[in-house]
Amino acid sequence: MAVIGIGQIGASFALAARRAGVVDRVIGVARKQTTRDEALGVGAADECTADVVEALGDADIVYVSVPVGAMRGVFEQIAPHLPAGCLVTDAGSTKAEVCRWAAQLLPETVSFIGGHPMAGTEKHGPAAASAELFDGTTYLLCPGRAAQPVTTRLESAIRRIGAAPLVVDPDQHDTILAYSSHLPHLVAVALSVAIARSGIEGIVRFSAGGLRDTTRIAAADVDMWRDIFAANSEAVLAATRAMREVTEEFIEAIETGDVQRVESLLETGRRFREKLYASPVGVDSSEGEAQDSD
Ligand code: NAP
Repeated sequence: MAVIGIGQIGASFALAARRAGVVDRVIGVARKQTTRDEALGVGAADECTADVVEALGDADIVYVSVPVGAMRGVFEQIAPHLPAGCLVTDAGSTKAEVCRWAAQLLPETVSFIGGHPMAGTEKHGPAAASAELFDGTTYLLCPGRAAQPVTTRLESAIRRIGAAPLVVDPDQHDTILAYSSHLPHLVAVALSVAIARSGIEGIVRFSAGGLRDTTRIAAADVDMWRDIFAANSEAVLAATRAMREVTEEFIEAIETGDVQRVESLLETGRRFREKLYASPVGVDSSEGEAQDSD
């Protein structure tokens, strides 16, 4: 397996696939020497290189795990050199554009299946990787034109690394992820920016767990999130406008002293949150519960 972009997700997939015996040899690709050294250090790869084409060799699986905005360039670069019959998959956090680029740029001699593990943390690089990262999580797949036996093979590999595969349409993926992942990220960042702008010093000593919980994901990689907001702009805008509507409702209710309206919003939120993690959502209970994504 060649892992192009052997950061947190690429290295975790490599570690998990090696642990499960899905692959026997991994070649990692990263631009920075420090990333390559880390990937070797944590045992995610047998070899690392900065040369994408060299890494392809006679790979059976090519796992592309660079930020979404860099996917197109990687597809262009690898397209002429992909071994016939190999499976190309990615870990990108948005799917419509990535799947479109793959369909346009990759040769018909290979199979492409878009992927998005519902796993990951706000950290980055192979040092943040773990063979257990996917355990009990959902792994979304967009098979597109890939033949059923190829999809079945990838689904089986995903089960072996501890995750539950779930096939989804790329547009549907992006619409849902705007609410389940992209809006939460934007909100965590907006909260951090608002507090930073308030100029209040030493706020941590005046907070319990809430501030830590609600700002945690704002610490994530800027390049990755810049690309996600750009690639899914329409759905992110719709979700953000919905959020703005609620915020404005709060402002109006508080401004006018409408206690009942405030109470009703609090109650709607409380009930929704209570139900949200009460039972596995969107997957068969036998497949495990969806986890927080990137
Ligand atoms: P990461 O730890 O920062 O790793 C990114 C990797 O991509 C590194 O190896 C980096 O190489 C390489 N890279 C960065 N920019 C590049 C460029 N312009 N051209 C070529 N290579 C480049 O990030 P990650 O968290 O593993 O995320 C990887 C992918 O998984 C992204 O598409 C992200 O949207 C998706 N994803 C992330 C999460 C999450 O929670 N983190 C969850 C699901 C999916 P260097 O180190 O040499 O710069």
